[in-house]
Amino acid sequence: MLNIPDAPAIAGARHLHSGKVRDLYEVVDGAHAGQLLMVASDRISIFDFVLDTTIPDKGEILTRMSLWWFEQLRDLVPSHIISTDVPEDVRGRAVICERLDMYPAECVARGYLTGSGLLDYRATGEVCGIALPDGLQDGSRLPEPIFTPATKAALGDHDENVSYAAVEAEIGTDAAAELRETTLAVYARAEEIARERGIILADTKLEFGRRTSGDGIGTTVLGDEVLTPDSSRFWPADAWEPGRSQASYDKQIVRDWALSPASGWDRASGEAPPPIPEEVVELTRARYLEAYALLTGESW
Ligand code: ATP
Ligand code: MG
Repeated sequence: MLNIPDAPAIAGARHLHSGKVRDLYEVVDGAHAGQLLMVASDRISIFDFVLDTTIPDKGEILTRMSLWWFEQLRDLVPSHIISTDVPEDVRGRAVICERLDMYPAECVARGYLTGSGLLDYRATGEVCGIALPDGLQDGSRLPEPIFTPATKAALGDHDENVSYAAVEAEIGTDAAAELRETTLAVYARAEEIARERGIILADTKLEFGRRTSGDGIGTTVLGDEVLTPDSSRFWPADAWEPGRSQASYDKQIVRDWALSPASGWDRASGEAPPPIPEEVVELTRARYLEAYALLTGESW
């Protein structure tokens, strides 16, 4: 079901783990020995399937975008980034980062209702145990942003929304409170920055970990990627219209194609979607680049 190619060998680094999109290595010698080398591939995943087709430059776009956001969030939470001085082969799409003890929670903030939140709301009137008003539609703005954590599923499984109480039970009340507060603060900051640029940040997923050595051991640090189209939903503000699926800067184009009759894919089959047609690849790449340019103000 999962189709992750073998991670390429990198001199001076030992492969640890490959996720759906990123390959993680441990730096084996030099100043950063023991730290992580996190390499973003051009792989794309939808509905937790890694597709056979890659999106050219996606790994580099996501890496640059994350670095830009980590800067914007600097005063709110420390980031795991140590250096962008990485081996030549992976320059531009890799970072050296602090190896954290990751919290087993996907920290999601939502300001708008869609995706798994919408499904839960339709079934129960709640998302992660938070009751929402009646009458909300796909894309509705929520009365206020909410923290809707999910479990981190093992590779190949789907993440599952859980209640805040479940997070407290898992990691303790203090850590849960800190993650909730920080997640909502990051969302508020990012939502404001995006809005100034004509983009709605509908929701975003963050991953945090604990610092395991050095100064500030135990400090909560923001890890992984941050505020990319893979971890977030960005919508053009001028096209926002609750009641339908929103035009989006993320991989919605690929999701919509996969669900359309044109793909020939049956989601219920449990099989991965077929290869993405060239024009869908190009559209998707263009969307990622557009989001990058609009948000950062930098052209590619
Ligand atoms: P998805 O993001 O779609 O859930 P994934 O979880 O399968 O995908 P990737 O995003 O491809 O994984 O790979 C990144 C992995 O690295 C994640 O498991 C993430 O928790 C982990 N990670 C990120 N930053 C750090 C860090 N600083 N220390 C340790 N692990 C990290
Ligand atoms: Mg990830």
